[in-house]
Amino acid sequence: MPIKTLFIDRAVAHLPAAASIQNRLGIPPRLVDGSEAVYACISRSSDPIQRGKEVLFLTRNKGTFLRECPGTRDYTCCGYKILHIGTYCTMDCAYCILQAYFHPPVLQLFLNHAAMQRELAAIFGRNEISRIGTGEFTDSLIWETWISLSKRLVPLFARQRRAILELKTKSTAIGHLAKLDHNRKTIIAWSLNTPQMIADAERGTASLDARLRAAVQCQKWGYPLAFHLDPMVIYDGCEVAYEALVDRLFTHVDSRNIAWISLGSFRFMPALKSIVQQRFPATKIIYGEFIPGLDGKMRYFQPLRTALYRRVAARIKAHAPDLMVYFCMEDAVVWEKALGMVPEGDAGLSRLLDAAARRVCDLSLD
Ligand code: SF4
Repeated sequence: MPIKTLFIDRAVAHLPAAASIQNRLGIPPRLVDGSEAVYACISRSSDPIQRGKEVLFLTRNKGTFLRECPGTRDYTCCGYKILHIGTYCTMDCAYCILQAYFHPPVLQLFLNHAAMQRELAAIFGRNEISRIGTGEFTDSLIWETWISLSKRLVPLFARQRRAILELKTKSTAIGHLAKLDHNRKTIIAWSLNTPQMIADAERGTASLDARLRAAVQCQKWGYPLAFHLDPMVIYDGCEVAYEALVDRLFTHVDSRNIAWISLGSFRFMPALKSIVQQRFPATKIIYGEFIPGLDGKMRYFQPLRTALYRRVAARIKAHAPDLMVYFCMEDAVVWEKALGMVPEGDAGLSRLLDAAARRVCDLSLD
């Protein structure tokens, strides 16, 4: 989606990155003090969710760049850390939680990278494995058209030995990764879905084939890979379609180069329902057997999602018996029924993922 309006916060206007992005976009910027004028511009629109995808705000992160992933005590937590580089997305998925999460949603890119690097240096100094990702409040690679964050982050992670960076995307914006010295400290990850769901609910994303071709290319460049089958949607024939997706994945990439595959089913905050109905009237994803989960989100009735997980996990294990498969935000009952095991204790899943990262990436502790 093209950017139509550019706001630059005076606090970052002096930084070379701000000038460089402005030149690339070729749009005269509006200089502002803080976010008020930006939010007002978006809120005035008849469709702020759409408008937020056309307005880019270059600013600084006033909080911390590194945050713990907001797991809840009711679901098994993976101990992930979020590197908060920016917010929102130029792609447009019907189920995207960011539509309802930010008020109003806006494409913000944080340019105070010196502060980000200081926080990363502190975490690199710890004698523990850290798994850090940028794809929680945005897609990791959409920014590459305007500024290559990967050129900044990948070499930074390459020079230490205890942390891995996961760049998660539905795009094929991998060009800048080609010549970087990554030292197997950066995992390139794709969220995958069935062709039917991509057509139905993932506007402006790359096709499944294009994502898999990009994954193969990254593998050739020596990067470890990961995949996220999330959100899986229940529809007629979905079991066969997700199994076919798994088969297709393994005909493309080497399972020994995959750090992990996560599985998650479609879940949504109740506030998202009317947004989807309004913005994606043709999609049927919100009409299923949903019940409120312990975190207040609507989830498929547990036996339904467990049955789908079991089929898909079995298919993955048939291709790669030792590959780390895990659930995002599921409880012990689902783990036991779908995978026949439950991670031990509060940090059990975290330890399993650390071990998976050490197997596939080049990490070491003192
Ligand atoms: S790619 Fe991710 S962040 Fe972007 S719209 Fe889709 S779900 Fe949201």
